[in-house]
Amino acid sequence: MKSSEATLLHVCKAVNHITDSEALHSVITNSEIPVSIRVNPNKIQQTLPYEKVQWCSHGYYLPKRPIFTLDPLFHAGAYYVQEAASMFLEQIVAPYTYKPVKVFDVCAAPGGKSTHVISLLQRGSLLVANEVIRSRAHILSENIIKWGKSNCVVTNNDPKDFDFLSGFFDIVIVDAPCSGEGMFRKDVSTIQEWSPSHVDLCSKRQTRILHDVWNTLAPGGILIYSTCTFNEIENEDVVSDFIAQTGATCKQISFFQDWNITEHEKKGAVCYRFFPHKTKGEGFTISVICKHNGTEFEPPKRTPQAKNITIIPEKNRLHFSNLIQNYQSIVYERQKGIIWSFAKDYRKFLLDIYMHCNVIHAGIPLVHIQGHKLNPLPGLAFANSFNSSILPKLEVDLYTALRYFKKESLEISHMSKGWIQLTYKGVSIGFVKNIGNRANNPYPQEWSIKMNVHQNQMWSIL
Ligand code: SAM
Repeated sequence: MKSSEATLLHVCKAVNHITDSEALHSVITNSEIPVSIRVNPNKIQQTLPYEKVQWCSHGYYLPKRPIFTLDPLFHAGAYYVQEAASMFLEQIVAPYTYKPVKVFDVCAAPGGKSTHVISLLQRGSLLVANEVIRSRAHILSENIIKWGKSNCVVTNNDPKDFDFLSGFFDIVIVDAPCSGEGMFRKDVSTIQEWSPSHVDLCSKRQTRILHDVWNTLAPGGILIYSTCTFNEIENEDVVSDFIAQTGATCKQISFFQDWNITEHEKKGAVCYRFFPHKTKGEGFTISVICKHNGTEFEPPKRTPQAKNITIIPEKNRLHFSNLIQNYQSIVYERQKGIIWSFAKDYRKFLLDIYMHCNVIHAGIPLVHIQGHKLNPLPGLAFANSFNSSILPKLEVDLYTALRYFKKESLEISHMSKGWIQLTYKGVSIGFVKNIGNRANNPYPQEWSIKMNVHQNQMWSIL
């Protein structure tokens, strides 16, 4: 027996008392991997002709895995490729979104849960999406910018750095780094990397993260804890020890029986498991922890003085006021000449987070001022609140859209010189600067498509 097969058997047998471990083993070994996406309701309004993910209003299973890189709408933030089980988050968060809330996604990269949650939140809400690993924080930032919502901050910090936001958040999400058992079918390397000592190490790290961020949750708030594992050590045991130490309790989640989610309780920890032989998707476990007491948030008495950004005074904002619509915002300078906007209601918070954290993204990127010129920042094209009436628009075909995302210069001889907004299937994909014989392409190199585009492989979800 190969060692990976032995590992697989061991993990399946360990959950024998919770489920049918032989069926689990057989499905991980023999079955096809489902492919699922979650549509961005601000960019795609129509219903897609695919099987729905039952617990997610905009989730779909695709019949087979396409080359996502070769669909312009994938790059434009029109949908997100995400495990179906993870989309269950919606059932937990949706009941809390009848009023504006503040959400902290602690382990957020590459952004599956963050982009999902931000689509559920009401106007006036706030999401702080954090990722401790720098390179992953930049991928998270790209995905958040492209998703197009304004009320979002991306930070690159250790979870313990957020203590200054004591009692601030209504919802904290810890989608913890884990031993990856739930990914055994999708990524065979996770079987080879798995070991009992790794499970142990992960559970210690998970416990540490929970304690590090607990203080940021307001009394009455919820902490959503999830892993993509089956074992109890990283789930029930982490949660039961945690609630015993903090006086918190687990909340029960209601769901339809035919979703085949497995509820399991141990020492007060209630966990909901998605097993690949019972639900269509990979392995995932989630629980909801309620906080009953603790410190209420107290805003800083004096306005914080962030040294690395400058809020632009109201009287000097005229140049930028027509760039975004219906949005009560302040405008700030991030680096010399780089102008962003942020929700007015969160002005103090913005200064505070810039003072304490490594902020990668906050609000909406607007323009780069170069001499007398205002050049739109590429991220502005994806913002839902971008006032698209200010620029001429050009709808492009599939091949041209992919050439834009490959950062090639385009030929647009029939349009006036200057900045042009490109759309594909009506979805904004970016800006080019038409200089006559060609149009310059400012799409960021680090976001660009690296593979060759073969015309016979191009496709689109719409
Ligand atoms: N929530 C993400 C999503 O839905 O796309 C997936 C998160 S992934 C399961 C766990 C994340 O935790 C990874 O991005 C990883 O870099 C990060 N991580 C690793 N070690 C960490 C630590 N010590 N503290 C906080 N986060 C950590």
